[in-house]
Amino acid sequence: LPPIFEPTRPVLQKIEEAGFEAYFVGGCVRDTILGDSIHDIDIATSAYPSEIKAIFNRTVDTGIEHGTVMILDHGTGYETTTFRTESGYQDFRRPDKVTFVRSLSEDLKRRDFTINALALKENGEVIDLFNGLDDLKHHLIKAVGDPNERFHEDALRMMRAVRFASKLDFVIATKTLDGIKQNAPLLDKIAVERIRVEFEKLLLGQNPVAGLNEFLQTGLYQYCPGLSGQKEKLSGLLLLNNWQLQNNEQAWATLVTQLGLSLQESGKFLRRWKTSNELITNVKKMLPVIAGLRTSDLSPLTLFKAGKKAVQDANQVAKLYGWAIPDEQLMKQYDSLPIKSGKELAVNGGILINDAGIKPGPLLGKIIKKLTVQVVNGELPNDRENLINEAEKIKKRGIKRD
Ligand code: ATP
Ligand code: MG
Repeated sequence: LPPIFEPTRPVLQKIEEAGFEAYFVGGCVRDTILGDSIHDIDIATSAYPSEIKAIFNRTVDTGIEHGTVMILDHGTGYETTTFRTESGYQDFRRPDKVTFVRSLSEDLKRRDFTINALALKENGEVIDLFNGLDDLKHHLIKAVGDPNERFHEDALRMMRAVRFASKLDFVIATKTLDGIKQNAPLLDKIAVERIRVEFEKLLLGQNPVAGLNEFLQTGLYQYCPGLSGQKEKLSGLLLLNNWQLQNNEQAWATLVTQLGLSLQESGKFLRRWKTSNELITNVKKMLPVIAGLRTSDLSPLTLFKAGKKAVQDANQVAKLYGWAIPDEQLMKQYDSLPIKSGKELAVNGGILINDAGIKPGPLLGKIIKKLTVQVVNGELPNDRENLINEAEKIKKRGIKRD
């Protein structure tokens, strides 16, 4: 077992010593066998939550109604979940009832794909009830049991299939793929936030083109906000071959760019996906930079307004399209801006009121904006006396337009 499991092994041992079963399950087992890095470790156990709490001194009920208890040990938390079955999938969504069970196989049976239904014992032994090892070897995403049934139970699994296709660079098995094609409309029943999480992971995966291809082929895209009827434009994404997106901002900016949305349309589109306001703001900062890179017409003011992070993110998106300039060159351009934020301007409202005799009000704001633009463009030095002088001139002359 990779070293990352070491601290957790004693936890499993202790559960076993108390007469119960405990296994590593889910993504951590899959990723270990693939030799990929692991980000979180899930433990499944035959012990009921109350029994886990009796075994360990310090625990936290992090999701006790689902059977999840966190064991605290020397400041580290280990989440264990009792084996369970799920039933009563109303509305093609999450089950409304979970039942704790003592049998590992019952728990593994309810999992989405064979590669996600492996269990690993503390001693390194793999439990493979659904041929997951074989499918891992052949890079296949295959539903556990009948795909049709499984997608009826929980339609989100269809999005999970395409995201794993991208994340792992795997192929979706034929019957599973057919199941998705047949049931794609059920995605309508799923909360957009949950679809979004899977879609973002798809775009940030190892092979987004593979995931997107299945996303388009199966028709899943038709049940996603703002994407239905956009197959042609979305297919353009399949022709891009330099995928190396690093975060959600970059992922969404790519999508918006591909769809050819204006700033305003982009905001609307992202709100339909229920992304955070912060993400929308950040993407909107990137778009003018992407446009500037595209037309080789990147002004200092565009860089200034975007800020460093959005400039870097924009260049990453531009790389996909062949519009980027070398990161170092772009950062040099950015770093040579006379000021990086409004706060660095040598004057502020107070100074202009006191020293340039400008009254508080809309004109003051306009003057500050104008000075900022001139300083950013290198037309004025960022020097207090100079800016006060300039402000007085503007006051006399008046502002036509900003
Ligand atoms: P990642 O590395 O992206 O976290 P993961 O496989 O750990 O991948 P999670 O969403 O963290 O994915 O889920 C953990 C495990 O729970 C899965 O491996 C799978 O066994 C099970 N699982 C999660 N969501 C579902 C679902 N909708 N239907 C059935 N099983 C699921
Ligand atoms: Mg996980």
